[in-house]
Amino acid sequence: MNQIDAVSDIILKSSKIVVFTGAGISTESGVSDFRSPGGIWDRFDPSELSFPNFLASEASREKYWAFYKELWPAMVDAEPNRGLYAIAELHHLGKLDCVITQNIDGLHQKSGIPGEKVIELHGTMQWVVCLECGKKYPREPIQSRLESGEKVPRCDACRGIIKPATISFGQAMPEWETREAQKRAAACDLFLAIGSSLVVYPAAQMPLIAKDSGAKMVIINLTPTSHDRYADIVINEKTGETLSQIVEQVKAKLKGD
Ligand SMILES: [Zn+2]
Repeated sequence: MNQIDAVSDIILKSSKIVVFTGAGISTESGVSDFRSPGGIWDRFDPSELSFPNFLASEASREKYWAFYKELWPAMVDAEPNRGLYAIAELHHLGKLDCVITQNIDGLHQKSGIPGEKVIELHGTMQWVVCLECGKKYPREPIQSRLESGEKVPRCDACRGIIKPATISFGQAMPEWETREAQKRAAACDLFLAIGSSLVVYPAAQMPLIAKDSGAKMVIINLTPTSHDRYADIVINEKTGETLSQIVEQVKAKLKGD
């Protein structure tokens, strides 16, 4: 039996699947990973865009917004790829408990998974939030303000500092999302880690919580991860092609082919 076949069998036997995704699932939609060379990440230093820096000076906030102003058009135009649609298919088959994602691009929701089933560990680019009063703004009008020349937008309500609702380097992990992700990982029967190198906390911890609680663990990532030895199956391939093959097999087996 090949690995695709084996993973599809595990999925057939599972009813509460937690899918964990990292940047590798979005690259096939043209959303670039900050680790990948070329493009915008060559011109901005991620460490300069840290949360402490953002809080520290107007100059840092200007740099931060310049970066996100440039990043936004690619994000807003990105369309789900077949890997993302394959995950949405697991939802339609009634097998998906939730998606836990490190991505901020909103592509899981675009693929048809209801928002309440997507736990965004690193926040989202779709919203901007005031750090003083908590007022939330949709991203698009803020983008228009940036494009018409505003360098560092401020809160309409309190003039406080506003920031995309993403978790920056040096910013605390969101409490509810982290706890909820740990809870879901502990209660699933299959933990499917996709397109993440599983290095950063708390991502690194989630598959181990699932495994300790008796779930099966499958890792699909282009390169090996530090958790491969704990996994039941590891597939080092591109995520889109692999996932669509797996879900096709699941559907075929459900139909009894
Ligand atoms: Zn405010």
